[in-house]
Amino acid sequence: MQFHDSMISLVGNTPLVKLNNVTAGIQATVLAKVEYFNPGGSVKDRIAVRMIEAAEQSGELKPGGTIVEPTSGNTGVGLAIVAQQKGYKCIFVCPDKVSLDKINVLRAYGAEVVVCPTAVDPEHPDSYYNVSDRLVRETPGAWKPDQYSNPNNPRSHYETTGPELWAQTDGKITHFVAGVGTGGTISGTGNYLKEASGGSVKVIGADPEGSVYSGGSGRPYLVEGVGEDFWPTAYDRNVTDRIVAVSDKDSFQMTRRLAKEEGLLVGGSCGMAVVAALEVARELGPDDVVVVLLPDSGRGYMSKIFSDEWMAGHGFLEDTSSATVADVLR
Ligand code: PMP
Repeated sequence: MQFHDSMISLVGNTPLVKLNNVTAGIQATVLAKVEYFNPGGSVKDRIAVRMIEAAEQSGELKPGGTIVEPTSGNTGVGLAIVAQQKGYKCIFVCPDKVSLDKINVLRAYGAEVVVCPTAVDPEHPDSYYNVSDRLVRETPGAWKPDQYSNPNNPRSHYETTGPELWAQTDGKITHFVAGVGTGGTISGTGNYLKEASGGSVKVIGADPEGSVYSGGSGRPYLVEGVGEDFWPTAYDRNVTDRIVAVSDKDSFQMTRRLAKEEGLLVGGSCGMAVVAALEVARELGPDDVVVVLLPDSGRGYMSKIFSDEWMAGHGFLEDTSSATVADVLR
């Protein structure tokens, strides 16, 4: 019989797929590491497993304990699945700007979700930050993973994502490109690949225009899951050889092209990372192998990136698209 003991053993070992169409005119091979094949649908399943197992080993998380984390997205889903399989409770704290769909996904896995008002100062007792801290203090057996400072976040990528890429490319990878959110993915994977290659693999971070990693102040941008207004300790600044800043418009247009031209329905930070990867690959030759990591699926963004109304409302559609509609109607 062929089966997995639980969903947890399905985390990792995601496929690598060649990009064949958005790469027109590029000589280098560009491969995508497609992380939506993880059971929770994103790269964050990897850190959830590693952070929880390390907390069990250190005794911070005890049988029947409760995981408390301020997250509304992919990390919450990963933690919820692993927690449910191992018998822990989960309480997630998220701001009220988060869509009901995302909150319901977390509840579907059995997690409790506490929604906080966005329109209050960080010092206010009802703020996102204060509520999660209070829940940790007041809940018996509570443990907060804190993906921004937890060393097991980058470590999970050093132990899984990095070795997978080295093996899948037969050691031929020359460039690794990933978006930077907590910095865990790029730091863990990048450091592993540098060590395995004797320092020759180049590591390139992709960042939304305005975020601190590319020299901004944290100005708002719409790509989700990447960019910051502070420097998390999970990010090793020395790992990146280069940071490429990408606009929301370029990120979202590439995200739509990946679905239309490559059959990859992925999230906005994936489009952003691919824009950066192509910018790097354009300067390279036929022996170069560029790997770009795609963190999640496009299913969570149907009413945004994949909605013409939403895209047009933000000025992200090409000017020609309305002309095309007019031409058809004529
Ligand atoms: N893209 C998405 C959609 C994410 O949720 C995240 C995680 N915040 C990232 C990219 C960035 O990954 P990391 O936190 O490892 O830098």
